[in-house]
Amino acid sequence: MNDTPPPLPALHPERPSKLTALLRGLRCRCPRCGIGSYRDGYLTVTDHCHHCGEKLGHIRADDGPAYFTILVVGHIVVPGALTVEQHWAPPLVPFMAGALLVTCLLIWLLLPAIKGGMVGVMWALKLRGDEVHGDTPSQTGR
Ligand SMILES: [Zn+2]
Repeated sequence: MNDTPPPLPALHPERPSKLTALLRGLRCRCPRCGIGSYRDGYLTVTDHCHHCGEKLGHIRADDGPAYFTILVVGHIVVPGALTVEQHWAPPLVPFMAGALLVTCLLIWLLLPAIKGGMVGVMWALKLRGDEVHGDTPSQTGR
């Protein structure tokens, strides 16, 4: 079996920029071609893109996507909850249940996209996620 990925489509002959890779990842797409998915299932990074064949399975985002998802969701839910509390002062239990539901829904929706964005940026920077501090790809010959 041929392990080398096929050439990029004619519309994208060069390696995309970091911003393009980020945006493609945020759309849950392959950072190289923007057509195939970066994942198999909900959060598992696919071994290779099913459209262009780019290897992605070696990229380990670890806890980064969870951290950024908490950061984003927290900045949405907390001001929203404070605004609702100040304007309508709803009963505590339904209010907390609603806030928990909104929090879980936002996490469920945003986590795959944020992980895709992180995988896209890591791919654009040629990172795998297991680099030693200060050890750049150019120093290791990758
Ligand atoms: Zn691809």
